[in-house]
Amino acid sequence: MNITNEKLYEIAEGARVNAYAPFSNFCVGAALLTKDGELFTGVNIENSSYGATICAERVAFVKAISEGKREFAKIAISAGDEESVPCGICRQFMYEFSPEIEVITKASPEDGGELKVRPLTALLPEGFVLERS
Ligand code: ZN
Repeated sequence: MNITNEKLYEIAEGARVNAYAPFSNFCVGAALLTKDGELFTGVNIENSSYGATICAERVAFVKAISEGKREFAKIAISAGDEESVPCGICRQFMYEFSPEIEVITKASPEDGGELKVRPLTALLPEGFVLERS
């Protein structure tokens, strides 16, 4: 599947409808493209026990990894009119699989509303990696 950054962002935006965010009302959608062209979406899922909350990015990754995917090309993240960059946990989680994944966000309308495309290594320059045995 060949997909533009704009289209991937639109898919992330569309996924937001399924976010479960009754506490923050901060609804996030993610659209993850694997290197072999498959698409997985995710949304943030909050929980009454706040620590059980999971971000949209990790939901998309977990769906893909559990379907056997390990290599990822790009991920778009939408929080509507607010730019949503991945949190620290998600940056590390993604780094495990694809340090060079492109992370696509969108500036808020007040900041110009442009898509931003950055390699994950720009957001997490020195991710933690254990030796694999
Ligand atoms: Zn996160």
